[in-house]
Amino acid sequence: MPQGLDAEKVPDSAVGSLLSVVVPVYNEKEVLEEFYDRTKRVLLDVNGLDHEIIFVDDGSCDGSAQVITQFVGQDARVRLLKLSRNFGHQIAITAGIDAACGNAVVVIDADLQDPPEVILRFIEKWKEGYDVVYGVRETRDGETLVKVWTASIFYRILKALVNLDIPVDAGDFRLMSRRVVEHLKAMQERDRFVRGLVSWIGFRQIGMMYRRDKRYAGETKYPYRKMIRFALDGITAFSSIPLKMATIMGYLTSLVAFAYACSVIVQKFMGYTVQGWATIMVGLLFLGGVQLICLGILGEYIGRIFNETKGRPLYIIDHEARSDRPRYSLPDRAASGSFSKD
Ligand code: UDP
Ligand code: MG
Repeated sequence: MPQGLDAEKVPDSAVGSLLSVVVPVYNEKEVLEEFYDRTKRVLLDVNGLDHEIIFVDDGSCDGSAQVITQFVGQDARVRLLKLSRNFGHQIAITAGIDAACGNAVVVIDADLQDPPEVILRFIEKWKEGYDVVYGVRETRDGETLVKVWTASIFYRILKALVNLDIPVDAGDFRLMSRRVVEHLKAMQERDRFVRGLVSWIGFRQIGMMYRRDKRYAGETKYPYRKMIRFALDGITAFSSIPLKMATIMGYLTSLVAFAYACSVIVQKFMGYTVQGWATIMVGLLFLGGVQLICLGILGEYIGRIFNETKGRPLYIIDHEARSDRPRYSLPDRAASGSFSKD
């Protein structure tokens, strides 16, 4: 844990301080202009609080980086962090947070599903002394019923399995104070579930209800494959209950098998020797299935241990584009072309 952080106080007044807005971008060319205009309007509205907008281009191939480079050319408060390939939403957020210089950092998606205007309410709460202000989705417009249901079920399973207060129906749209950001930067795990890590950090956290809008343009970059992986990351990173469930399932099936074996022996002594083919097959398949499930659960954890032990950098930065006269000095480690998160 970085030293001296606990002593740091959330600023009483935000006057003279800097707000960093981190925006992960993956093929969002059609939304960027509108996002920039709307967000900029909001940020210019905040009295006495300067801002920087850090677009993290997560390996887009639709020209998003060129659009952002134009913003950089016209606005010294915009920075582009281009990753060397697509690393995924959570890593893109991490790269942006690492590079942020602000006294507070806001993470917001580029697709305008999270209305930038809500940032003003986040700032109010931050000024009141909260370290984390996270958005809670009151409604989710424009998303398929399947997505809304699966998300809702996932958050409830997570709550049941994890011994930590990870807010239900909250995404990564949030404001974090500098001290939370520093603690987050100290967490180096690879299969990142950022909202869980932030909950784990603690301090004063508060949720704010907001209406999640439709995507302004384009399509979701979270296909079901990525969503399932993300959900598994969330559960495995914060709970070992699935492993315990594997053990319990093992005991239960052994018990059933033992009871059945007893009944077979009794039947044999009573002279009923003809056994049904179906019964044998059902038992065989059932036991095989349970074993495979348990192996799969083990595999999920072992795969993640393997991932951690490799010790690779979390991401590689291709380049950073910023105004010739940067308004703020960058953290040393973010200044090089590529670096490891050490
Ligand atoms: N995103 C990213 N890398 C990815 C996938 C998504 O940086 O591999 C960004 C995307 O551009 C958007 C945010 O993460 O700004 C959330 O993605 P999306 O809107 O597709 O997810 P959804 O809201 O549908 O869950
Ligand atoms: Mg979205």
